[in-house]
Amino acid sequence: MLLQVLGTAAGGGLPQWNCACPGCTGARAHPARRRRHAALAVRTGEDRWYLVNATPDLGDQIEATPALHPGARSDVGSDIRHTPLAGVVLTDAELDHTLGLARLREARDGVDVVATPPVRDAVREGLRLDALLEPYTAVRWRELPVDRGPSPAVDRGSPPTLAPGPSPTVTPGLPLGEDAAGIHVVAVPVSAKRPRYAAGTGPDTDTWSVALRLTEPATGRTALYAPALAVWSDAFEAAARAADCVFVDGTFWDDDEPVRAGFTTRTATAMGHLPITGPTGTAHRLTGLPGRCLYTHLNNTNPLGDPHAEQHKSLAEWGLEAATDGMVIEL
Ligand SMILES: [Zn+2]
Repeated sequence: MLLQVLGTAAGGGLPQWNCACPGCTGARAHPARRRRHAALAVRTGEDRWYLVNATPDLGDQIEATPALHPGARSDVGSDIRHTPLAGVVLTDAELDHTLGLARLREARDGVDVVATPPVRDAVREGLRLDALLEPYTAVRWRELPVDRGPSPAVDRGSPPTLAPGPSPTVTPGLPLGEDAAGIHVVAVPVSAKRPRYAAGTGPDTDTWSVALRLTEPATGRTALYAPALAVWSDAFEAAARAADCVFVDGTFWDDDEPVRAGFTTRTATAMGHLPITGPTGTAHRLTGLPGRCLYTHLNNTNPLGDPHAEQHKSLAEWGLEAATDGMVIEL
């Protein structure tokens, strides 16, 4: 499995256009610290790639990634409008993960978008991106299957029987692209938080924000991508344990960071992002996992935005790391 890290910043990016916090000021002074909005590209076949989330930086992210450039295929001849980009998978409907869809209006063969039903409906009816793009290109939606993990055992109070219980069900993945042997994707629910623009619309459901489990059947390799994580559920724990590589919500270093920074009165947890450190933090859970673990979706207030910050040493001691833009991961 081949993954390209296209961006590692939370909403606003680093620097954020209207922010003068130390992180943003530092990124203006030191361009190497700049981070684009969090996104991945995953190779789904020979010169075929899917994006994970379509950010406002989509155009720059494609230009910064030669594998996503047009003309990468040898068999396209004089077809100058060929693209290796086959589609987009959405983890949620937040603006920083969906606005890039509008940048794909030039897509000659349409755009394949994979999402859960509430995310699809928010993009179609809230953002009206389908209606916006319709005169230019076709948006083809496919439903992202959801895996809620094995059902908890039910104690019926009756004597045990010798009959075997139902075996744990494994939700089959949705094949991305035309090659069924390529990459399969399944959603693991992580948050019922919907975007603010979708307040009051659609159902209350745990599939507003999901982690993606990407599996390559040919090799058995698995990656888990969770740019937002509101709760560490049993299903997420199981998916993380089985993954060769885990990308996790690194929005905030600690729970009080957003309050200290002065832009909100809500803690990280209240904003739907488990912090990295502290009693509810994700670091101590990740250190026990067998796979490689990287933080992504860093807010501009997160001290990890400074490559010289002491916090990087702590991460390294725990066997963890912060993902960086342009990173290539081969599993
Ligand atoms: Zn800032």
